[in-house]
Amino acid sequence: MWMVLLLSVMQDTALWAQRGTQSRAQSGAQSGAQSGTRVDWRADDPARLAWLEAHGRRVSRTHVVLTVPRDSMRAAHQEALADSLERGLQALHELVQSPHAWQRHGKVAVHILLAPGRFVSHANGDGRVFIPFSVAARGEAPYLHESAHVLLTAPAPFFVWEHDTPPARQAVGNRTAQWLLEGLPNVLAARAAQVAGLREYNVFATTAAGSVHATCAERTREAPRAAMREAVGSEGMVTGLNGEARGELAPAYYTCAESFVTFLVDQLGLRAVVELAPHMTHDTWRTALERLAAASLEDLKALWQKHLMAATRTE
Ligand SMILES: [Zn+2]
Repeated sequence: MWMVLLLSVMQDTALWAQRGTQSRAQSGAQSGAQSGTRVDWRADDPARLAWLEAHGRRVSRTHVVLTVPRDSMRAAHQEALADSLERGLQALHELVQSPHAWQRHGKVAVHILLAPGRFVSHANGDGRVFIPFSVAARGEAPYLHESAHVLLTAPAPFFVWEHDTPPARQAVGNRTAQWLLEGLPNVLAARAAQVAGLREYNVFATTAAGSVHATCAERTREAPRAAMREAVGSEGMVTGLNGEARGELAPAYYTCAESFVTFLVDQLGLRAVVELAPHMTHDTWRTALERLAAASLEDLKALWQKHLMAATRTE
């Protein structure tokens, strides 16, 4: 049973009217990113936090703390949303099999903050998830995807921005398994939503053509999107994803990343793939994966591509 998170009720508040105007004028966080504007999504987090300290209302559960602008929704609705998120987080923890020794936030509640303004939803490395209030109000919040990022975060330095020097950050960018970093949270979010009976918004509609495999195949039939299927399974951040062509390339890349991770999970088991998480931004992920699969990365990719073709033919 789908349980729609109770956010549409906020639309009659003054705050919503104000944010709604702003959101329409700026055409939303995700499309903002798709227009090619490269934004430092985390730079304004301290200001968002300070604003919510003054104007927010916080509700706590075992696995989640939810802060929203005080005037944006009735307290009862926030409680109901927190209950839904608690079920989702519970399911995520069970799937991930927390706690692991490598988890930075395996035993603490994920803090989800709905903040004013236009930005891309993100997990910021300190256990907080920031989502634009306007995105949540439209029912488009990737709550479980971002929460999965938190559960899959290993000790610092793990993310690019946690390295001090430009050469060190460049090195991380060159070795990161971006497909795993983004594909695994999608797989976990979809499964947790199903277990918990929640509706998780999928930004790139990765199952639009039926299965995620069929959608990947369909979206990568032609250049330049075909290159996105090749980029999955490779080392390094895909630079084209943050440039002018993001709108065209990102749906293909994220869908195929989820498709490849789904394939690996089917072959190797979810638990084993989750154990790759602490390696994702280090130069050890390829060795760890190849040892786990007892196969080379090239062979795994070739098998996946065959699987994609088969999945397309049978649907
Ligand atoms: Zn993500």
